Amino acid sequence: MNRSFYIDLARQSMAGEELSDGLCGRILGDETLEILPLLDAAYEVRKTFRGKEVVVHIINNAQNGHCPEDCHYCAQAKTSKADIEEYGLKSDAEMLEEARQAYSKGAYRYCMVFAGRGASPARVERLTRLITSIKSEFPHKEICVSTGFVTPEAAVSLKQAGLDRLNHNLNTSESYYPNICTTHTFADRLNTLLAARQAGIELCSGMIVGMGETHADIIEVAKRLRLLKAASIPVNLLVPIEGNLLSEPKNLTPQFALRVLCLFRFLNPKAEIRVAAGREGHLRSMEVMALYPANSLFLQGYLNSKGASNRRTLQMIKDAGFEIKSDMSIDDLIKNDKIKNDDFGGDDAKVVLKGLKDLRPAYRQAGPH
Ligand code: SF4
Repeated sequence: MNRSFYIDLARQSMAGEELSDGLCGRILGDETLEILPLLDAAYEVRKTFRGKEVVVHIINNAQNGHCPEDCHYCAQAKTSKADIEEYGLKSDAEMLEEARQAYSKGAYRYCMVFAGRGASPARVERLTRLITSIKSEFPHKEICVSTGFVTPEAAVSLKQAGLDRLNHNLNTSESYYPNICTTHTFADRLNTLLAARQAGIELCSGMIVGMGETHADIIEVAKRLRLLKAASIPVNLLVPIEGNLLSEPKNLTPQFALRVLCLFRFLNPKAEIRVAAGREGHLRSMEVMALYPANSLFLQGYLNSKGASNRRTLQMIKDAGFEIKSDMSIDDLIKNDKIKNDDFGGDDAKVVLKGLKDLRPAYRQAGPH
């Protein structure tokens, strides 16, 4: 394919034109389109709208397990036999301390994740209290919450407390949804996103790739998120956690994962595209290339599995010539990280589940509740 094809691809994306399904399908599956010029075109778009900055997120489980839903990819689902550390809701003091720790490690945004179907009135009340206290201590940092389904009234309360973003992933396409979950529907998920958007909360919503979906399903999700104007789009690569109903990623190669990231960038040119869970194991030696279409990643692992050490992730960002969005320099953050290089969560072949000390980093300081 000649150079003008890729230049035109970037031009269309930057002009806000929606790429046709045919063209999207070629980005995902046409081997005559080579990966380097595709990444270069996606980088052109990323650089135009997001510069060379990498937004670093640290995610933390406010509770672990005890979920009545059956999302087949999730270690906290009632159907999962994964050997996770279950615990009830952390105290406010513990979550506040975790937020302090996350910001001190360079996180621009702190994500609190609550397992379960949705936010009860009591949980919304507690969340508003917590968000208010984190915001009063860190007015210039951002907070994101993932708390299942949210009603329009709850969304308004969370917005008033200072919530910046609500995370609620679409995960897969509408028609494929019954294959990954039977206890709720795609429409349920969509309604929460619409409630948050109506309340003026930024949307963080993405997908999980590698669950057996087709290229058309991936294109549908990327276009749906474009329609929803999602500010932040996590692209997860299915983490193979033993015991989950969906524990074997399908059709995921490093090159395909990069093509998916390019597609999300072309269709959502201004969004924060996150190379989210599973980047280390699925991208392997190509991991750093993900920063050309994506401008965001997780530090310190995922919901229930560890990732690369902070030091390795930060060093990778620096080595590739990117900068992180933080009030601390990347050099200081690397210097401050005491984790040695041999302290990785898992190698490429093996997923290591988080232990209690990873899941509750502030437990000792804040004490039990
Ligand atoms: S993804 Fe959320 S709702 Fe689904 S099983 Fe996991 S914790 Fe429960």
